[in-house]
Amino acid sequence: MARLDGKIAIVTGGGSGIGRQAALLFAAEGASVAVADIDAAGAGSVAEEISAAGGNAFAIAVDVADESSTREMVAQAVATFGGLHVLFNCAGIFPSDDGGVLDTPPATWDRVMAVNAKGTWLCCREALPAMLASGGGSIVNVASFVALVGAATAQVAYTASKGAVLAFTREMAVEYARRGIRANAICPGPIATPLLAELLADPAQRQRRLVHIPFGRLGEAAEIARAALFLASDDSSFVTGSALVADGGITAAYVTPE
Ligand code: NAD
Repeated sequence: MARLDGKIAIVTGGGSGIGRQAALLFAAEGASVAVADIDAAGAGSVAEEISAAGGNAFAIAVDVADESSTREMVAQAVATFGGLHVLFNCAGIFPSDDGGVLDTPPATWDRVMAVNAKGTWLCCREALPAMLASGGGSIVNVASFVALVGAATAQVAYTASKGAVLAFTREMAVEYARRGIRANAICPGPIATPLLAELLADPAQRQRRLVHIPFGRLGEAAEIARAALFLASDDSSFVTGSALVADGGITAAYVTPE
């Protein structure tokens, strides 16, 4: 039996990178998937890819930072599929002018917090009643290894937003533990996706990151999608409030071996 047979899932940020891989994997594991993204074309092409492979999916345009947009997203998923069991909050941004304490523009801080932190909360806020009405479910949020250790290159807004995601996820997990809803966060290390593409195109910046990864390589989006599948499925039935670290060993290392 596939691991998400009969489950209904929303994947935000499903049009690209980790979210795209997760939407494809969840569908291949039997879930009906609402692929939600601010990039409607990206979400549409992933939903088409799933349908072409024989899966069940449709695309939704959403801005996770906007309350009414997240309400509409959950309402559409429930109206289309008849319930909700899994929410994978993968939408996120990492603007290039996010930097040090003194040089990060306040508007950048506000937008990063609005999408990464508030957006995660708003999607959970809309999804929880639908999940309760469906008999329970699993929420998987995306934090980052920078929620656990300071980044080697300053990106204060992003780091603060991911710390907020991790702390929020733990508290939600406690609040809903006795109501049949689990909530966990994944803390990925640097993953080769469009989010980091501009930064990693610079060989010096790329090396600056690789030097801290014991594996000596970036992660792949599909590797994080598999971690999300574990947390989304009943394979993790006794796991809630956890931070699943998938970072190639970054946070385990004091000095990275040559
Ligand atoms: P990505 O840029 O490939 O995908 C992010 C998706 O989110 C895009 O499709 C984008 O359109 C969508 N999005 C952005 N703002 C949105 C909004 N307001 N509403 C709805 N959708 C929106 O990046 P990715 O690397 O796949 O990132 C996915 C998640 O993983 C993010 O939360 C990111 O912070 C996190 N993460 C990434 C890395 C990495 O190294 N790539 C590391 C740790 C955590």
